[in-house]
Amino acid sequence: MIIVLNDRISTDEVKNVKDYIIKTGARIHESEGTEKKILGVIGDKRDLDQMALEAFPGVEKVIRILEPYKLTSRKFHPRNTIIKVKDVSIGDLEPVLIAGPCSVETEEQITDIAREMSEKGVKILRGGVFKPRSSPYSFQGMGEVGAKWISEAAKKYNLAVISEVMEISDIDTLYDYVDIFQIGARSMQNFKLLKAIGKTDKPIFLKRGISATLNEFLMSAEYILSEGNEQVMLCERGIRTFVEFTRNTFDLNIVPMIKNVSHLPIIIDPSHATGRTDLIIPVSLGGLAAGADGLMVEVHPKPYEAFSDGNQSLNYDQMNDLLDAWEVIRESVLKLRKKKIEEIEKNVSDYAG
Ligand code: PEP
Ligand code: MN
Repeated sequence: MIIVLNDRISTDEVKNVKDYIIKTGARIHESEGTEKKILGVIGDKRDLDQMALEAFPGVEKVIRILEPYKLTSRKFHPRNTIIKVKDVSIGDLEPVLIAGPCSVETEEQITDIAREMSEKGVKILRGGVFKPRSSPYSFQGMGEVGAKWISEAAKKYNLAVISEVMEISDIDTLYDYVDIFQIGARSMQNFKLLKAIGKTDKPIFLKRGISATLNEFLMSAEYILSEGNEQVMLCERGIRTFVEFTRNTFDLNIVPMIKNVSHLPIIIDPSHATGRTDLIIPVSLGGLAAGADGLMVEVHPKPYEAFSDGNQSLNYDQMNDLLDAWEVIRESVLKLRKKKIEEIEKNVSDYAG
């Protein structure tokens, strides 16, 4: 439920409305429209009476929200969320590029990739050190020493670092080495991990579960936001379908759909979504044209020697091809993005202005 207060409401009148809501056990999330204050009501609202609320002095209108997600909803927060990581803004006009190996393997490997990526204009370096692998016999990641290597390589080339946490104790282990915590697809519904990560002050990169619906995906983000961390970006990394020629199926639909229903940035990961190097460039372009706020790709100097996911990693030349292709459509995509932002601003003033 959203309560729009009029611009002449007194402090006492605001207090009366809030007391009434709090008495029912619900929580309040406050935000400001262009001119008016908005109270978002979260939690058990069984005792909240819409008509009674509308009768309070200073209340302009009460809007019911049918979706189960609240804090992640664009209705609660009409403008796009912009997440600042070092000098990068995620969710703003310019889509961000995140690249790096599936796994940090050696100090030399990650340092070489960091240098190459910074030369190509990438701002965020990825690299897993705790790896969720389907087989217990596969490479499980370098652990903390790998985190130290990626952090030092990133520092040398002025990049931000993103790496995955698989369990609660990984949060402390990685805290000083990374700028963004990644929650992998397999952990999307590890609710204890989501609650713990929601108590941190670093941005979170939440990947869509292998068979997660839109609502399940946004409810997982809701877990993080409801603990106080509002710096969440979502990632479409493909879902499991009957299609057998790719590792997963890239769900292009969810990119504009998320932009419709949520204010959180959505990043695409065509490496995991396709599992095939030859499909990464076309799928990247499709996703960016559809409104993605960024792109995460796996890159390795010698993909055929990679410890994990070599068959979905670009080599340096292929990464150049991707950047060239992006340059061809970039201006047009930015024009579309600008138009979208203007539409949002217009809706904000119609809604609460
Ligand atoms: C990864 O990013 O390397 C990864 C394991 O991704 P996902 O959780 O999407 O499978
Ligand atoms: Mn991978």
